[in-house]
Amino acid sequence: MQILVTGGAGFIGSNFVHYLLTERNDIQITTLDKLTYAGSRSNLSGVLDDPRHTFINGDICDRDLVTDLVADADIVVNFAAESHVDRSIEGAYPFVETNVMGTQTLLEAATETEIQCFLQISTDEVYGEILDGKFSENDNLRPRNPYSATKASADLLAQSYAITHDLPIVITRTCNNFGPRQHREKLIPKFIRRAAAGKSLPVYGDGLNVREWIYVEDNCRALDLVIRDGNIGEIYNIGSGYERTNIEVTQEIINNVNAGEDLVEFVDDRAGHDQRYALDTTKIENLGWESKWSFEEGLEQTVDHYLINK
Ligand code: NAD
Repeated sequence: MQILVTGGAGFIGSNFVHYLLTERNDIQITTLDKLTYAGSRSNLSGVLDDPRHTFINGDICDRDLVTDLVADADIVVNFAAESHVDRSIEGAYPFVETNVMGTQTLLEAATETEIQCFLQISTDEVYGEILDGKFSENDNLRPRNPYSATKASADLLAQSYAITHDLPIVITRTCNNFGPRQHREKLIPKFIRRAAAGKSLPVYGDGLNVREWIYVEDNCRALDLVIRDGNIGEIYNIGSGYERTNIEVTQEIINNVNAGEDLVEFVDDRAGHDQRYALDTTKIENLGWESKWSFEEGLEQTVDHYLINK
């Protein structure tokens, strides 16, 4: 089985490539990544020389390249994206280009060949915020920042290609991931490094925004399960049930690195900051999935990783 993994030098994509090469013997992986500021070959160290893996430095918006690579693939997993909300507020153009145009380029290439599955990696943020209850896969998309608007656009494009071009689309929407190989701009790696260095921890607003956190290995297992047993045409939420406010996450990090509470610094809130995301994961649990890592165990592992790999 030939799998094309786009964005495989980024955080979740690289964890997924490592996971598949460890867990499965029946695959060949081609990783396509533009190596933006968020991607790094070092995330793939240990698998760059693996004969089951080929790395290609390229852009998902490059039609000729993408057409060739998709033609050779049985499965496409599209992780490639601009992924940082704050950057999308500063300037959304690269988000539209990669997240929308890039996805469309991949979908178009898939219409010219026979593939078994096109897995579009999406996010809980496409549903917008929810104050009570949890989002199910049938809920409306109400993205509230430019990043999530481009991810929602990609979901809609993928769904439209399933109908108009009969493409075998599956979409997964995952909550916040954490774990090894995440870019240092994201909350958990940033706060671990800063807390360990005795630097201030800038928490947005009152710190009471709630996110659901999944350890990245649990997400990789869920994605593998969806590829094996998921139904074409379906959307699967992937969540952990571990909801934490930002200030709770910050305090857990402080405890783990034995830093002082006085490092916390409340700063102006992010524009349009969503209050809470939470996912109903009944559908993926019905496929037989459950999370293995508690938030606390995952965080301990993550702190060790970043402190060892300073
Ligand atoms: P990331 O920013 O760490 O990695 C993105 C990767 O995509 C990078 O390696 C980058 O070089 C590559 N890339 C960017 N533009 C590209 C282009 N035009 N062509 C080819 N490669 C390109 O992101 P991540 O956190 O690993 O997220 C991966 C996917 O998962 C994204 O689609 C994101 O929306 C989704 N997601 C992330 C989270 C999370 O908590 N991190 C949660 C839910 C969904």
